[in-house]
Amino acid sequence: MKKLFLIAFTLITVSSFAQFDRWFHDKTLRMDYVHSGNDRNDYFTFDEFYEEPFWGGSKTNLIDDFNYGKYYVKVFDKETKQEIYSRGFSTLFMEWKTTNEAKITDRSMTESVVMPFPKKDAMIEIHKRNKKGEFEKCWVKDFKVNDYFINRERRLEYPSFDVHISGDPAKMVDIVILPEGYTEAEMGKFIQDCKNFKESLFSFDPYDKNTDKFNIRGVLAPSPESGSDIPADSVWVKTLLNTRFYTFDLERYVMTHDFKSVRDLAANAPYDQIYILVNTPKYGGGAIYNFYSSSVSGNKVSGKIIIHEFGHAFVGLGDEYFSSKVAYNDFYPLDIEPWEPNITTLVDFDSKWKSMLPEGTEIPTPIDKNAPHKIGVFEGAGYTSKGIYRPADHCLMRSFLTNEFCPVCKAAIQRMIDFYTK
Ligand SMILES: [Zn+2]
Repeated sequence: MKKLFLIAFTLITVSSFAQFDRWFHDKTLRMDYVHSGNDRNDYFTFDEFYEEPFWGGSKTNLIDDFNYGKYYVKVFDKETKQEIYSRGFSTLFMEWKTTNEAKITDRSMTESVVMPFPKKDAMIEIHKRNKKGEFEKCWVKDFKVNDYFINRERRLEYPSFDVHISGDPAKMVDIVILPEGYTEAEMGKFIQDCKNFKESLFSFDPYDKNTDKFNIRGVLAPSPESGSDIPADSVWVKTLLNTRFYTFDLERYVMTHDFKSVRDLAANAPYDQIYILVNTPKYGGGAIYNFYSSSVSGNKVSGKIIIHEFGHAFVGLGDEYFSSKVAYNDFYPLDIEPWEPNITTLVDFDSKWKSMLPEGTEIPTPIDKNAPHKIGVFEGAGYTSKGIYRPADHCLMRSFLTNEFCPVCKAAIQRMIDFYTK
């Protein structure tokens, strides 16, 4: 029986790989576009296709059924109309749409999606969530294999180095670490910071049980100057990825609008997730689901910033805190269930961690100071103290007073690791 099962399993794996080989080359197609609009409307305009040398993603799980993110990219074979690839994601522009600035001005940001490089003509669709939280198709772009305008130039070509290698990129979670604001003389410091990154990541449950499922690589790319921009202090430094503090006027929110450079630099290694390490001791970071993560490398809590931000970008975890000042308006409407696995408005709690609750759990669950990680339904999460609930009183997605993720976040992290590696 065991043997039969093994044969069946092998056949499924072989046929999934055959699907990949039928539709795709082992390299990346990237589509850059501009996302424009305001708080009410947004639209997409095409920029350019790029061919990149590596494909770091799964070759078996080509269709993403998590239903996470504000957007989805779906790729269809032009001739057969078969869906051959999909991924959920979110963007900085989507967050900006909920700021006060978006009520009074229009704005554009460069974005891009990546996919394995199709062997035949394809249609690339972008879907976005409507007001009810359901996905709707909003943009279609044709891709022609023989288009000689597909850009094959490598604008930011640099050597990569191994930080932690476990095996074939198709069967691992591949993280590429990009240096931001490290000068030529600080490349040795960057290599050490990448080692610290690895130690931090693998010191938290459940990453500590999955070290053999990760590849981590760094890119040796110096910036002309050290650090990151701090607009409120009139600090502007020449750096490769143009990150800055004060994104959406929030001091600790370190992001970049220059996503083109981020993608160009990441293309030096196979990757599933992009991590920007910012060379400064000042407290800050940021991350968006399947977009990129950033963290400062020199702060005393950098290890926890790294793991918290990666929870957003890799797993789609929401913030479980609710007391800090943020720049958003109605980020989570209370009449729809948020897509993040670790927060709920109770509109569709069955789709969340209801099955993990012990029988008779009170909702909302009263706080038990002696059991900060006990599972329940605690009011206050997603930047709001009323109407949004978190799974435990304390979790690394809420604060750095703890060293642990709550049980719901741990389970969500494990599910995502499995998706990339099985
Ligand atoms: Zn949690």
